[in-house]
Amino acid sequence: MRRRDMSEIHPVLVIGGGPAGLKASADLAELGYDVVLVEKLGQLGGAPIRWGYKTLAPELRPTEEVMGPLIEYVEGNGNVRVMKNSVVEGATGGLGDFTVTVRNLMNGATESLKASAIIVATGFEHFDAKVDPRYGYGRNPDVIGIHELEGMLKEGRVVKRNGDPPKRIAFIFCVGSRDKSTNLWCCTVCCGVSIKQAIELKHLLKDADIYMIYMDIRTFGLWEKLYWKSMEEYGINYIRGRVGEIYAIGDKLLVKGEDTLVRGPFEVLFDMVVLAVGMEPGSGTAQVARALNLKVNEFGFLEPRHPNIHHDSGRDGIYLAGACVAPMSVEEALAEGSAAAMQVAKALRRLQRAVVK
Ligand SMILES: Cc1cc2nc3c(=O)[nH]c(=O)nc-3n(C[C@H](O)[C@H](O)[C@H](O)COP(=O)(O)OP(=O)(O)OC[C@H]3O[C@@H](n4cnc5c(N)ncnc54)[C@H](O)[C@@H]3O)c2cc1C
Repeated sequence: MRRRDMSEIHPVLVIGGGPAGLKASADLAELGYDVVLVEKLGQLGGAPIRWGYKTLAPELRPTEEVMGPLIEYVEGNGNVRVMKNSVVEGATGGLGDFTVTVRNLMNGATESLKASAIIVATGFEHFDAKVDPRYGYGRNPDVIGIHELEGMLKEGRVVKRNGDPPKRIAFIFCVGSRDKSTNLWCCTVCCGVSIKQAIELKHLLKDADIYMIYMDIRTFGLWEKLYWKSMEEYGINYIRGRVGEIYAIGDKLLVKGEDTLVRGPFEVLFDMVVLAVGMEPGSGTAQVARALNLKVNEFGFLEPRHPNIHHDSGRDGIYLAGACVAPMSVEEALAEGSAAAMQVAKALRRLQRAVVK
């Protein structure tokens, strides 16, 4: 009769190397657990690194300051094995003794691994605005998404297709969010992110006129300060309205819509239109849900056993974290990664304490 020591505990499998998965991996490694981190892309960091976010709202802190140390810690930690360009194809067993198949997407090779527990942190994908033809996204290169603007801001060069800096810029909020014809839910961060970007644009293009065409402003908690700052310090304009159609007229964009405060139509010419595209569960989360037989809700997000306890997947030994459960900010995704790691550590401690023959 004895108790298991640490060396008898299989590694914890973390799926998804964004903020949530990285934080879960780092916390577990720090507690002394071995971790296998499976990421389908060739780089870690999730959306903030993939799309080159310049800064993170609400503090406008450079993204690398938040994500850099986490990525370095995980990649340099002897307890973490990082498997990039890979996906999990299936898992059998349960807490303490999963057998997992991982496929390398580059060469097709599969590997069978043992895992003690699994954390799913597969995040989100951007709403594809091509689905909604009224915006002309994909047809007119001067209509871009907020994720594309992030990359331009990071490069310090925001220009139109013809190379000129835009003078009049419109942001259209809730594209692919809060709309029964596309996605019903609120992406929670897109208002704040758009306002952050408008402020950054004013630093880059001092003479630009910026108009925010919004349904409601949902800058929750401390993110609200960005909203006030944008008006009081940067002179950014707000129009409460809905856009019906965008037409290309020469090298300008005519935005037609309805002002829902004064209850009248508007038609305004802009040089560039930025669509605040929402967050969707995406194909990565659908793939892992199929592979691990996890429940998804009506929108395709992973459905926890209890709606207000995100980390509990409802399957013994499998935990959830981050934007694969619901749209959220980086700070929330990091907190969820830590919370899932804590649940795994608790479960594995119980396993270690149990007496084995
Ligand atoms: C344009 C934009 C700007 C934003 N700016 C801010 C901001 O300024 N401040 C802020 O707090 N939040 C911001 N956010 C929100 C932020 O991006 C998310 O909160 C955060 O990325 C969620 O982290 P995550 O780890 O849950 O998911 P993700 O960042 O999506 O990471 C998930 C990872 O899992 C991988 N993956 C997916 N499927 C699989 C699979 N099947 N197998 C293996 N790996 C898989 C993905 O490749 C990815 O690396 C912004 C969002 C958008 C859309």
